[in-house]
Amino acid sequence: MRPFTYERPVNVQAAVAAASHLAKPLVPPTQSPAQFIGGGTNLADYMKLGVAQPERLVDLNGLDDAGLRRIQVDDKRIVFGALVRMSDAAAHEEVRRRCPLVAESLVLAASGQIRNMATLGGNVLQRTRCEYFRETSWACNKREPGSGCAAMDGFNRQHAVLGGSDQCIATYHGDFAQALIALDASVVVEGQHGSRKIAFADLHRLPGDTPNIETVLGPADIIVAIEVPLGPWSGRSRYLKIRDRESYAFALASAAVALDMDGGTVRHARIALGGVATVPWRAKKAEEALLGKVLNEGAAHAAAEAAFADARPREHNAFKIPLGKSTLVRALLETRDMKV
Ligand SMILES: Cc1cc2nc3c(=O)[nH]c(=O)nc-3n(C[C@H](O)[C@H](O)[C@H](O)COP(=O)(O)OP(=O)(O)OC[C@H]3O[C@@H](n4cnc5c(N)ncnc54)[C@H](O)[C@@H]3O)c2cc1C
Ligand code: SF4
Repeated sequence: MRPFTYERPVNVQAAVAAASHLAKPLVPPTQSPAQFIGGGTNLADYMKLGVAQPERLVDLNGLDDAGLRRIQVDDKRIVFGALVRMSDAAAHEEVRRRCPLVAESLVLAASGQIRNMATLGGNVLQRTRCEYFRETSWACNKREPGSGCAAMDGFNRQHAVLGGSDQCIATYHGDFAQALIALDASVVVEGQHGSRKIAFADLHRLPGDTPNIETVLGPADIIVAIEVPLGPWSGRSRYLKIRDRESYAFALASAAVALDMDGGTVRHARIALGGVATVPWRAKKAEEALLGKVLNEGAAHAAAEAAFADARPREHNAFKIPLGKSTLVRALLETRDMKV
């Protein structure tokens, strides 16, 4: 590991200033010399592997704003402070009752120890687990722009079938983000130019020709809160995750579903897919396929076909297409049958 300095500012402005000082124009946050640390479960891992090499760590855990550690629920929305731990959000009684999808996406992620440590802000910015990204001896456009992509013709069982490019097919592995994009959440960001709100759907960037630029954030931007609007679909919502083993594994395929039903008919559907795409993935075509339909097995299968119509498999990951479809079908039918 390379030497680095460590700072623990006491307020958000000081944290932004600490990161701004070393920020370089056009360098994305993941490659900036100064990096924020929430729970450290992702960043410390990548520092040990030599993938992340910050000169300065700016620890957010000393920030004195109580809102950063608070969960607020009212009739219209849930607001999570960015330093709320995954385990606290997953166990929150009102969150579980008002929007089971959010709680389930968190409790099915990682291990108990990691959830106790990891923050929600850090969670949504976690980086891919692509094996070739994690091992610095391989070519990787995300780690080293222009070097190539070892996964294209390598072992790509874990990789994405949706949203990939000729430069990168790395999966976005997080679970919570699927709930957030399905529910039209937004993040509140503090940066060099003050405060702004970003729709969660706009936060992550498709890899395209620049897979090293993963989000629209600047190098001194801090996520301070995550807002989840509530609606008639929130109570009838769930997260289904399929993985190689039941404990402690990333999704091979997952589905975040929230439904507003009029009897057996879909008034409004919100769907996102995990484990199969390069970014948190809203399945709009599947939602449209369900609008006004009676939600039976046939309608669920039609929605799943629509969700994966644009899928592009590589040599080892074609299984994700039928797996992703059956995951979505099951999630839709189980959500329909929830007693709300
Ligand atoms: C073995 C293992 C299994 C896992 N399994 C899963 C799983 O199944 N599902 C899943 O979703 N996740 C899983 N994870 C990932 C885990 O959820 C993340 O490591 C964790 O959520 C990251 O949160 P953190 O606070 O520790 O982030 P950190 O490591 O502190 O930060 C992550 C990134 O975000 C930046 N950052 C942190 N906070 C902020 C902020 N407020 N504003 C701006 N930038 C910020 C950091 O600079 C860094 O780049 C797993 C991790 C491990 C190690
Ligand atoms: S898939 Fe993306 S992260 Fe993985 S090796 Fe290729 S460029 Fe790197």
